[in-house]
Amino acid sequence: MRASKAASSRQSAAGSQRKIHISGAEGLYKASEIQKIVKRYVERALKHPKGKADKILITIENIKQKPKSISTLPVATINCSSPAEGKNVIVKLLRSSGISKKAIDIAFELIKKGNMRGAAIITKEKGNRLEPDKKRGVRASRLGISESALKVLSSKLSKHGINTDTVKEALILASKVSFSRHILAELCISDDPDYTTGYVATEKFGYLRIPNIKHKGSKSGGRAFFVREGMEVEGIINYLERMPVIIGKVAPCKGIVSLDGILGK
Ligand code: AMP
Repeated sequence: MRASKAASSRQSAAGSQRKIHISGAEGLYKASEIQKIVKRYVERALKHPKGKADKILITIENIKQKPKSISTLPVATINCSSPAEGKNVIVKLLRSSGISKKAIDIAFELIKKGNMRGAAIITKEKGNRLEPDKKRGVRASRLGISESALKVLSSKLSKHGINTDTVKEALILASKVSFSRHILAELCISDDPDYTTGYVATEKFGYLRIPNIKHKGSKSGGRAFFVREGMEVEGIINYLERMPVIIGKVAPCKGIVSLDGILGK
């Protein structure tokens, strides 16, 4: 699902047709679930905190390829009480995953600007952007979770008071992304003005939630996938957009952990 709204004349230059990205969602579902999911996606587009969509596009595709079954990343939260503290934690996590300061700065810049539909693919040293459409980014798609894994995940997240669709959808996405051996780390800050928890995800650290990474009411947000220099980006995009991946196993979900504990200090 892809929902957008025409920018008001105040928000776009005269005569231009700028669109504001309101919401996007995708998943792998059984045919019998289509009606329920379409209803849920339409409601999301019409009741989104970023505003009411005036255009909603829904694409339904029959996927013949058998999905690859993977595990979720382990989940934990690093307590942060302000955007500055959160950014400091994110920088430390990404630096210790081998991402340069330059690449991190570029990610934060595009997140501050916001309004991308997908993620930027950024090289870890020079901070080059590899995605072909820089305004749109690349959307990870064809991802889902089995019924039994969803039950287990919901129960594990409930123990920490974070059993929400937002957390589950982001965790499914981050788990697919990090399963690509070419993506070293992911940074996400939601563009939802009501949702102020971001995350860093890597295979080694897992899915680390960073509360208060932005102030409530801010519509800034975005995603960055960090890769090695000289990567064949078509292969990565093909995996993200087209390879069906389903969560079949759930890794441990912890509560609050310390940054030093994560970094092994
Ligand atoms: P959200 O977490 O849904 O608020 O999304 C935050 C930002 O992540 C969006 O503004 C997009 O730039 C990006 N994004 C959302 N969904 C995807 C996706 N499926 N694949 C890649 N990037 C995404």
